[in-house]
Amino acid sequence: MHTVGEAVSNAIEAVKETAQNVGEAVAEKTEAAVATVSAAASDAKEAVAKRAKAAVKKVKEVKEAAQETVKTAVAKARKAVTKAKPAAKKAAKKVAKKVAAVKKAAAKKAAPVKKAAAKKRAAYEQGAKKKPEVSADTRRSESTVAVGDAATAASAFPPGATLCQKCNVAATILMDGCATCLNCGYSKCG
Ligand SMILES: [Zn+2]
Repeated sequence: MHTVGEAVSNAIEAVKETAQNVGEAVAEKTEAAVATVSAAASDAKEAVAKRAKAAVKKVKEVKEAAQETVKTAVAKARKAVTKAKPAAKKAAKKVAKKVAAVKKAAAKKAAPVKKAAAKKRAAYEQGAKKKPEVSADTRRSESTVAVGDAATAASAFPPGATLCQKCNVAATILMDGCATCLNCGYSKCG
């Protein structure tokens, strides 16, 4: 025969069991949920890692490509410079050659002029010797005193000499009725 106490005790037992079952189910569900979440998280992590790896790889590739491009450009520039160097040297040599040629031509041109001037000067000096009353030395010293330092450079020419319109040196004298420069050989009579 069942007593009230027994019945209550049984009811409590039943509730306990139910509670335990519910708790177990909850725990199981929770575990499963946790597993799912953790699996998803793991998947996500892997995916992110994979993507990050791919991105790093791409960056590396881009970097390498850029480095290669820079390398190629530098090599090209170096090559161009190396190529340009002998060309510049060649051009400089050419210019030097031209300058030398111009100098030579100028010297060649100047040579006969100098010769003619010297000839005229010699002729003048000979003429001066023939006329002892016009002493070139006396006149020269007079002019040097009068004109001073400014005339020192021109003092090698006769004191009566006038400025030459061609070379701007006071070396033009009258020779045989014709103004002649003793410095550059310029003559008004041609
Ligand atoms: Zn002159």
